[in-house]
Amino acid sequence: MEIFKADIHCHSTYSDGTLSPEELLLKAKEIQLSGFSITDHDTIDAHDSAIELAKTMNIKMITGAEFSCVHKNESIHILAYSFPVGHESIKALCEKHHHRRFYRNEEILKKLRHHGMIVTQEEIANLTFGSQTHKKTIGRPHIAQVMVAKGYVKTVSEAFHKYLGEDRSCYASGQSFSVEETIDIIHQAHGLVIIAHPHLISSGKIFRDLLEMPFDGMECYYSRQHAGVNKRFVTIGQKKNWLMTGGSDFHGDIKPDIHLGCSWTNKETFEILYNHFICQ
Ligand code: AMP
Ligand code: FE
Ligand code: FE
Ligand code: ZN
Repeated sequence: MEIFKADIHCHSTYSDGTLSPEELLLKAKEIQLSGFSITDHDTIDAHDSAIELAKTMNIKMITGAEFSCVHKNESIHILAYSFPVGHESIKALCEKHHHRRFYRNEEILKKLRHHGMIVTQEEIANLTFGSQTHKKTIGRPHIAQVMVAKGYVKTVSEAFHKYLGEDRSCYASGQSFSVEETIDIIHQAHGLVIIAHPHLISSGKIFRDLLEMPFDGMECYYSRQHAGVNKRFVTIGQKKNWLMTGGSDFHGDIKPDIHLGCSWTNKETFEILYNHFICQ
C-alpha cells in the first residue's frame, strides 16, 4: 500500500524555485504525492493556473504561501493555507511585499556596489533558470545567482555566507510586517496559519512569544530534519492541539540536496486542510 504523502511546502519560479508550477505538478504526480501545495514567498500568483491543472491531474492541491515577517528584529516565516484562490486581502498583502522587496533589493544592491560588486535590478528581474524565467517575488537568492554568474562568488551559499546572510555586511531587511498583522490578514481571508520551520527560530524567547499567538499549527516535520527535532515540535503541537504539518521546502536546482516529497503532511492533517479549502 502506498503511504499517503502530502508535500505542502515548496517553491516555484514565481519566487525562488527553479521549476514552474506545471513542472512541480508533474514531479508531484511522478513521485505519487497524494496532496500538494505551492508556498511561494510573498506571492500567490502560481495558483491561478496550478489549482485548475491539479484537478485535471487528480492531485489534491490546496492554496498556500510563505510570508516573511519580523518579530523583535528576527525574521520569521509563516505559512498560510487553504484560503480562497486569489483572495483580495491576501493579494493586497502580496502587493505590499512586492513593493517592500523592490526597495529592499535596491538597498542590498547599493551595499554590494560599495563592495565593488555591480548587480542591477534588471539583471535580478530577468534571471532565467534553464528555459524558465523567475516571475514575481525577487529576493536574495536571485541576487546571489547573479553574483555567481558574474564571478563575484563561486556559489549561492558563499554569497549568503559572505554578504547576504542576516548578520552580513550587505543584508537589509527593508520595511517589515509583524507576525501579528500577518496572522490577522490570513485569518480574515479564512486561511489557516502555520509556524514555518520552527527549528530555525534562534531564541527560546522568540519561540515562546510565537506560541502565545493565534496560530493554527506548526510545521513539525521539515525537509531533512531528523526524528529527534520533529519529536520536540510534535510534543508541543500535541499539547496545543495544533495542526502538525510537514513539507520539503523544495526549491529545485538551487538547493539540489532537497528533494520534493522528502518530508510530508499525513492524511489526517491534510484532510483537515483540504476540507477547509474546498468548503470556502
Ligand atoms: P529573502 O526572501 O529575499 O530574504 O531570501 C530568503 C531565501 O533565501 C530563503 O527562502 C532561502 O530560499 C534562501 N536562503 C536563505 N539562506 C540561505 C543560504 N545560507 N544559502 C542559500 N539560500 C539561502
Ligand atoms: Fe526560499
Ligand atoms: Fe522559509
Ligand atoms: Zn520555504
